Formats: sequence, structure tokens, C-alpha cells
Amino acid sequence: MLNGKTAIVTGSTSGIGLGIAQGLAARGANVVLSGFGDADEIETTRAGLAAETGVGVGVGYSGADMSDPAAIRDMVAEAKERFGAVDILVNNAGIQHVAPVEEFPDAKWDAILAINLSSAFHAAKAVLSGMRAQGWGRIVNIASAHGLVASPFKSAYVAAKHGMIGLTRTIALETAEAGVTVNAICPGYVRTPLVEAQIAGQAQAHGISEEEVVRDVLLASQPNKAFVETGQLAALVAFLCSDDAATLTGAALPVDGAWTAQ
Ligand code: NAD
Repeated sequence: MLNGKTAIVTGSTSGIGLGIAQGLAARGANVVLSGFGDADEIETTRAGLAAETGVGVGVGYSGADMSDPAAIRDMVAEAKERFGAVDILVNNAGIQHVAPVEEFPDAKWDAILAINLSSAFHAAKAVLSGMRAQGWGRIVNIASAHGLVASPFKSAYVAAKHGMIGLTRTIALETAEAGVTVNAICPGYVRTPLVEAQIAGQAQAHGISEEEVVRDVLLASQPNKAFVETGQLAALVAFLCSDDAATLTGAALPVDGAWTAQ
């Protein structure tokens, strides 16, 4: 279905990004993985994905730091050089820090804004001329339910994710006649390493068990009381990349068990 297309998925050495990369590769796209982690483990993941998907699908890796605009431009240039084009960009890399505003470290604010928001601007800026020239492109921004509603103690994350939806809508308007679609996906809680760290942290902070954090804190606002599955997000990204989704652009799509319906 995506044979011959090339996708960059930022922050795909773990969690949601890895699931999306697997989903796109399984549908025939070349994939460039990105993100941090142990070099051997990343190479095992890369080689495993290449072997799984077989002949005709290339799987690359970029160690670009999403807080460094020049590194983002290099990542895009390397992908174009290896695969000829970047047809699909999934801006997924993200970090979290939880603290009241008065105690929120300035450096954490800057890092979250850079990695969770500005990286999407720099990557989109780098891929758009190629997408326009070929008259086809897909940009999918992984925002969050926190792009639509707020929670206390997540000022930088909520600001960045709300910003990502604004960025999505703006680029969608600018590319509306170019064969390019730009959408944001807004997941509720997905049980990834990013969330595991919050479960442990909140259990310690509130002096309650991790099971209680999951039920009474994290999923308190998610009415279906179930985590979103990475595979569900990967399937939605694949649909957004299909020709059936050619007029679906500028949307912020909640996948949150009705959290933001409240
Ligand atoms: P994760 O921690 O499992 O993965 C984050 C990825 O980003 C990793 O590959 C990591 O190496 C990479 N990364 C972090 N900093 C980077 C940097 N400076 N440069 C390059 N790569 C960097 O997290 P996840 O839960 O899979 O989250 C992925 C995205 O989904 C994030 O944008 C997150 O905000 C969003 N999201 C997550 C949830 C959830 O419940 N897990 C819910 C809504 C939205």
C-alpha cells in the first residue's frame, strides 16, 4: 500500500514511534528510525525491522537530536540522499516533565518546547519543498489529548502540544492545494516508557501503589479506563498516509477513550 514511499518517524527507538515505524514498514514504506538509546539495541531494532519486512523495504536510522535544528535538517537530507525523497514525516519525538509552574526548571521548559514542538516545525520546513515538488506528502504530528485539554503540573507539555495542533492547522492551510495533508493525532494514555516513568514517579509522590496511580490518577480522566494501544495509533497513521485520506487534513484527531469529549 505504501510501496516506494519513504517515511521519517522521529523518536522511534521506543514506544509509539517504534509502533508507527513498524506499521509503515509492514505496509511497504522505507523507514528512517530516529531517537536515542543504547547503540547496540537500536541496531538490533533496525536490523530486526528490516528483516521482518523483507526485500524492497529499507530501514535507516538517524541519531539526530530533535532539539538541534541543524541536525534535523541533516536527518532529512540524509534520508533524501539514501531513498530519493521523504514522502511521509511523522513528528513523534517527545519528552515530559511534571512540576508546578513555580518549580518548573527553565531548562526543562526549553527542552520540552524544542523537542515536542519546534522539532516538528524544523522537520516540516525541511521536507515540504520536496513534497510540493512531487505533489504528494503526508505529515502526521503526534500531539496528545493534552493538545486539546490541560492537566496541572504539565505546563510545558500542554503548551507544546497545544502549539503542535496550531502548527498542524497552519501548515495544512498552506499546503491544502499541494497534495500534502497535515494532521495531528491526540492520544490519551499509552503505556510506553514515557508513561511508565510517570507511574513510578506519581506513586512515589502520592505514596500510593502503581495500580492506584493507573486507575485513580492516569486513567481517571479516560472514561474507557483502558490504555490506547500503539498498534491502534500505527493503523491510524497508515490510514492518514493512504489515498483514501487525501481530503482529511488540518484535523486534530482524538484517540482517547472519550477523555476530551467531557
Ligand atoms: P517514549 O519515551 O517511549 O519515546 C520517545 C522517543 O523520543 C524515544 O525514541 C526517544 O529516544 C525520542 N527522543 C526523546 N528526546 C529526543 C531528542 N532530543 N532527539 C531525538 N529523539 C528524542 O515516549 P512515547 O510515550 O512513545 O511518546 C511518543 C510521543 O507520543 C511523544 O510526543 C508523546 O508526547 C506522545 N504521547 C504519548 C502518550 C503516552 O501516553 N505515552 C500520550 C499522548 C501523546
